[in-house]
Amino acid sequence: MRILVIGGVAGGMSAAARARRLNEQAEIIVFEKGKYVSFANCGLPYHVGGEIEQDSYLLLHTPETLKAELDLDVRIEHEVIGIDRDAKNVTVSTPDGVEKFDYDALVLSPGAEAIVPPIPGMELPEVTHLRTVDEARELAARAATAKRALVMGSGFIGLETAEAFRHRGLEVTVVELVPQVLPPLAPEMSSLVEKEMRQHGVDVRTGVAATGVRAGGDDAAVTVDLSDGTEVPADIVVVSVGVRPNSALATEAGLEVTERGAIVVDERQQTSDPHIWAAGDATAVRHGVTGQVGPVPLAGPANRQGRRAADSIMGRVDTAQPVLGTAIVRTFGLTAAMTGASPRMLDQAGIEYFVVHTHPANHAGYYPGSQVLHLMGVFSKEGKLLGAQAVGPDGADKRIDVLATALRAGFSADDIAELELAYAPPFGSAKDPVNMLGFLAQNVLNGTTKVWNAGDLEWARDNALLLDVRSEREYAMGHLPEAINLPHTHIREYIEGVKQVAAGRPIRVLCASGVRSYYAHRVLAQHGLDSATLDGGMFTLIEAVPGLELATGAQQPANA
Ligand code: FAD
Repeated sequence: MRILVIGGVAGGMSAAARARRLNEQAEIIVFEKGKYVSFANCGLPYHVGGEIEQDSYLLLHTPETLKAELDLDVRIEHEVIGIDRDAKNVTVSTPDGVEKFDYDALVLSPGAEAIVPPIPGMELPEVTHLRTVDEARELAARAATAKRALVMGSGFIGLETAEAFRHRGLEVTVVELVPQVLPPLAPEMSSLVEKEMRQHGVDVRTGVAATGVRAGGDDAAVTVDLSDGTEVPADIVVVSVGVRPNSALATEAGLEVTERGAIVVDERQQTSDPHIWAAGDATAVRHGVTGQVGPVPLAGPANRQGRRAADSIMGRVDTAQPVLGTAIVRTFGLTAAMTGASPRMLDQAGIEYFVVHTHPANHAGYYPGSQVLHLMGVFSKEGKLLGAQAVGPDGADKRIDVLATALRAGFSADDIAELELAYAPPFGSAKDPVNMLGFLAQNVLNGTTKVWNAGDLEWARDNALLLDVRSEREYAMGHLPEAINLPHTHIREYIEGVKQVAAGRPIRVLCASGVRSYYAHRVLAQHGLDSATLDGGMFTLIEAVPGLELATGAQQPANA
């Protein structure tokens, strides 16, 4: 049996290695058009930033090591330029000319290609991408002498690239078309990331497009023009505005692809041709929550799909689970992580949901070094987990990994509340932030808690008594101008006073994080008052409402 694999990195190499482990007799040839196979593309930004000092650390294998370990025939600088499905062969451009190779099974894992925006100047030598080892090397070398860099796009790779340049001491501007950085995050979570970037000296321009790059500028190699009329000088421009499936070969061969060009595969990675399998960024996957079909360009799915393709070729039934899009990125001192569907994705898919936010400590508050973790959960109206996001200096990764597992298991708020997670003070809390998310959602579902959020703010300002239950000091430092202050520890004492001031209006309670307002809300609700607690407290409200105006100073006696 001869298996040919196109693409020698994540999906392709997983397929080849797994095929060998399952079949010692098969002839397995991997074609890679670049100079390197099995390289760590996820590590490239860290080489640019200097954290991974030696580029050799990115090269996990060579054709020689793969021959020795797995008896794979790996051919670098071999680009497959055609597939003849009837003859079951591929045409390959090699350093010695064009050759044809027959196959019994063919695996496509050609990855994705960077999108190049249709604006002038993309051909300038200062404009580049970060997708290959050579590009990483070149950027690392250029960063040593450059003063200013501009990164177009603030997705995962854009953020990592911006951070890498700051590590190298460059002035960095990030330009993002949509009004927030890291578009897969909910806006109130992404604004935490944006603040972190600004605090580390990154000039962040959101809601603005780069309209062109031209040579020369203010003491810089090029000038980038932006749609708001401003211009940014730069010595390096990295374009990181997204990728598209590298599916030209598949399309030319007549394989089924989606409208947006991703190769259609079944649950065993088989394409519309029974002799051809595909894996990785070039393929379309079904999203595990929304059911929508499209590419999810992440290393984990690509590796699993490659492995599955080999299983399938060898006749093993290993059915794919839908992809959840679990992803993580570090931005200076913060980690942002997510799994499943975001509110925006659910809106697009027409799926009903509710959201809860919590801001617990990453580990026991009394143990030194605890820090706030911002956690968001998205649940169906029936209480099933649909997605989660976390942003914080520490502990975001493990919470999202637990919640990704919960999502895969189809867990509900009740299941999450009952999760028994490892605890000692340096690591977590007896009620872990993950449990807290479950408790919050449970309370909303069973009516113990009624919540309000940023979307209700205007209504609440006009129609409700806004009751700020933080301390007098916190209130004086910044509060909603309409809110009166009654620290939550006094709520029982002044319940009649609150009723009088409310004068029949609903009461919308708020505090810093949503904990104290929840306590106050429970007291008010048990006195028969229409009250609701602000989900995620002022932490979330301030992030969700850009430019929210706050009054300062102590409460005036008339309000008291
Ligand atoms: P690739 O790994 O890209 O491999 C495709 C290979 O096919 C390429 O080497 C290409 O040269 C070769 N090829 C294409 N066409 C042909 C042809 N006709 N003939 C021969 N060879 C061909 N994902 C994460 O989950 N976490 C991360 O932290 C992360 N960081 C990343 C950072 C960077 C800078 C980049 C670029 C990607 C990152 N990713 C990350 C994404 C992840 O690397 C990809 O999802 C994954 O590598 C996709 O695997 P693949 O096999 O589909 O494609």
